[in-house]
Amino acid sequence: MSTKRDYYEILGVAKNASGDEIKKAYRKVAIKFHPDKNPDDPTAEDKFKEAAEAYEVLSDDQKRARYDRFGHQGVGGAGGNGHGPSMEDIFSQFGDIFGGGGFEGFFGGGARSQGRRVRKGSNLRIKLKLDLEEVANGVEKKIKVKRYTACNTCSGTGAKNGTEQQDCGTCHGQGQVKRVVQTMLGQMVSSSTCPTCHGEGKVVTSKCDVCHGEGRQLQEEIIPINIPAGVAEGMQLSMSGKGNYPERGGVPGDLLIQIEEEPHELLKRDGNNVVLDQYISIIDAALGASVEVPTIEGKVKVKIDPGTQAGKILRLRGKGIPDLNGYGKGDQLIHINVWTPKSVTNDERALLEKLRSSPNFTPSPGKNEKGFFEKVKEYFQ
Ligand SMILES: [Zn+2]
Ligand SMILES: [Zn+2]
Repeated sequence: MSTKRDYYEILGVAKNASGDEIKKAYRKVAIKFHPDKNPDDPTAEDKFKEAAEAYEVLSDDQKRARYDRFGHQGVGGAGGNGHGPSMEDIFSQFGDIFGGGGFEGFFGGGARSQGRRVRKGSNLRIKLKLDLEEVANGVEKKIKVKRYTACNTCSGTGAKNGTEQQDCGTCHGQGQVKRVVQTMLGQMVSSSTCPTCHGEGKVVTSKCDVCHGEGRQLQEEIIPINIPAGVAEGMQLSMSGKGNYPERGGVPGDLLIQIEEEPHELLKRDGNNVVLDQYISIIDAALGASVEVPTIEGKVKVKIDPGTQAGKILRLRGKGIPDLNGYGKGDQLIHINVWTPKSVTNDERALLEKLRSSPNFTPSPGKNEKGFFEKVKEYFQ
């Protein structure tokens, strides 16, 4: 057994060195004797460990005081019987020495606390077509999906009888393995997911007969989905836990439902409003009328005032689509077009010719007749 060197001498500091000076000195020595930097020097690792041991004592006020009084005997014979700190301990010391900054993740504490990983299954995506009535009123849809669910026989574990499992031998049930990686400061310990058990910490020793160890089975399932009123094309709804169950246990992914709107034959959606192009005859426009128009809720009668001009926009309040977030309802806007006959009979021509020179049939737009753009501005703002 070799005699132990003085700790202050190892680090090259004075007996009254401050904690900061000790830290700095240790950093220098540790980098100098790092085994990876001295592959040809078999004594480097010993010197590296020696420095670590010295630092362990001198950086701790109580241990340092005992060492000052009693020498190596005073600090529990560290190294006296050959039990120096392990390489892992030394690396965890780097946490203090080089701490903060970019190296944090490398050291024991942080990585170890991640523990076992919970698997999450993949998400399922479906597209759902809705017509305008369904969008406006909300609807419950029953959707048939094929998804992986937990195997009933093994409760999703993949193990025979649901019990034939044991701790993974590679990671001893931790789900994580430590790995020594090279950095500019030499070796660091990093943790990563265990390659044997993929982070589960357990391995199946005898596989379930039904799912062959997969822990899941593909099944057709009918899932009721409540679609709230006011959804729109391209929106995505999510049902937590209705996606695929992962292999060998964990939590299922989500079911993602993408909304597609089927266009309505007559009604066009504009935000929460619906817009209808409505043609009326010249007679109805001139004399007034009651016309039937489609709405989301069915047909309603709308009064056309005498003297209605083409381009007029009528508003049916609250006949639009409810706001998804509950802020009221949109309106139905009726864009009035006046139908001009494309052909006329001789009798019709005679009637119309009589009216041609009549002053009431001569256009004379006043200030009240707003242009198209003003109307659009007024109603679509
Ligand atoms: Zn099974
Ligand atoms: Zn493992």
